[in-house]
Amino acid sequence: MGKLKENNSGKVFLVGAGPGDVGLVTLRAHELIRDCDALVFDHLANAELRKRAKPECEQIDVGKAPGRHTMIQEEIGKILVEKARQGKKVVRLKGGDPFVFGRCAEEMIVLDEANISYEIVPGVTAALACAAYAGITLSHREYGSSISFLTGHEDVEKESLRVNFKKFAEVGGTLCIYMGMGTINEITQKLMDGGLPKDKPAAIVSHGTLPAQRKVISTVGNLVHDAERADLEAPAIIFIGNSIGLSTKGNWFERKQLFGKRIVITRPLEQASRLKAMLEEKGADVLELPLIRILPSEDRNLVAETFAGIATYEWVVFTSANGAREFFNVFFKAFGDIRSFGPMRIACVGEATAEVVRKFNLEVELIPNRSTGEDLAQALVATNSLDSANVLVVTGNRNREILVGLLESIGHAIVDSLPIYQTDFANVTEAPDLAQYCQYGADAIVFTSSSTALSFVEQEEDLKLANGATKPMLCSFGPETSKTLRENDLEVSLEIENPSVDSMVEALVRKIGNH
Ligand code: SAH
Repeated sequence: MGKLKENNSGKVFLVGAGPGDVGLVTLRAHELIRDCDALVFDHLANAELRKRAKPECEQIDVGKAPGRHTMIQEEIGKILVEKARQGKKVVRLKGGDPFVFGRCAEEMIVLDEANISYEIVPGVTAALACAAYAGITLSHREYGSSISFLTGHEDVEKESLRVNFKKFAEVGGTLCIYMGMGTINEITQKLMDGGLPKDKPAAIVSHGTLPAQRKVISTVGNLVHDAERADLEAPAIIFIGNSIGLSTKGNWFERKQLFGKRIVITRPLEQASRLKAMLEEKGADVLELPLIRILPSEDRNLVAETFAGIATYEWVVFTSANGAREFFNVFFKAFGDIRSFGPMRIACVGEATAEVVRKFNLEVELIPNRSTGEDLAQALVATNSLDSANVLVVTGNRNREILVGLLESIGHAIVDSLPIYQTDFANVTEAPDLAQYCQYGADAIVFTSSSTALSFVEQEEDLKLANGATKPMLCSFGPETSKTLRENDLEVSLEIENPSVDSMVEALVRKIGNH
């Protein structure tokens, strides 16, 4: 891409990123993040959102400028102007809603003065989101008919601009207090001094909508004590009002089976997206540490040669879901019509692989009870159909020798093996969630193949956990992966019998889920 001209064709979008759960951003925000040339964000915007930007998008963290805690507002304004002047489509992500205690006004003034056009995209503000995800109703026909958003921030420059909490004791209704954790003592005291009864229902929700969400339900009089006991920290919203008394202890979000559990997935996201989605649906905090990369096979000649003789095989054997996926990618590039596949019988190492094949309405005739190369070979031999039969084994570049060896030596088959993809170790230092993993650890780490396990062992140094971080239990998709882990002195806490995403999620729920 050539250097962008200095001009005024750039535009800034001041976008509400919602409170944390990425499902709570608007479609408009999602589209803008996906298409923008520069993304300016601070600590409140969910890191997951940033992964949605295009690879060439310039990402600027204004929450943690080098040598300083946060960039001052003036500098942020300058960055927005500078990037827009380069003709870029700039998204300035702001936690929650940009107009709710988001200092959006200052940025608008700077842009107006610089004559740069902008748009504002609203977002779900923290108070509303925390209330919903904690099961706290903000209004009720019989309790309170107003909802106030207040800030407890003590840095508000002019004393006269600070919220007069004493007066709000009279306003009644439901009070939602942002940035109030630092001054919670003072806030509750002033409310009571203003006449608010000390048994008025109150609650705090911290890290709302995220797997780390915590809440306390209390009263104004006991709030400080209860918050300290529960070790609640910012970001948090303090709620005060009669309707809060209606909330129940648990709620739909916190009752999710994997709520609060941190689970690491090690496959590249292209392959792990269903696993991630299912775990998140159950409330888990999913960290991505891709440990392998799947690359198409280099050997185009071999692929062409195999396809030329495709009609001569009696069996085609798929040893992995990746292999099956890549095989059909390449197959349809060469033929464009499933009828060229021929009438051969199909065997798959396990259910996940079979799922890929069945998508093409092809019948999978054989899946061994246990998903290993040996079991697959034995099941094939037991069909008594291998003697002098042409068998095509579609594999990666690892772990195929045993299977091919057994098919030839015991089954007397004529085996062609087609390494359709290559597995490489991915550099874990480039993983999006490595820092988080090292700092906090995780409850579980899921190994999908021997290669993810080997890569884990190889990159041990970069994966060292900080003191006090949770040591994850190791979960394996099948016996071969477990074997690799054990050979490297790692303890396997969970192994599933039929490797499929569904059974892994079920097993995790059984082992570490909230019951
Ligand atoms: N514009 C934002 C608020 C920015 S002020 C919005 O509309 O939500 C920052 C404050 O928002 C925090 O101090 C905290 O009070 C609140 N907040 C933001 N995200 C939160 C979350 N996930 N859970 C609880 N409070 C949150």
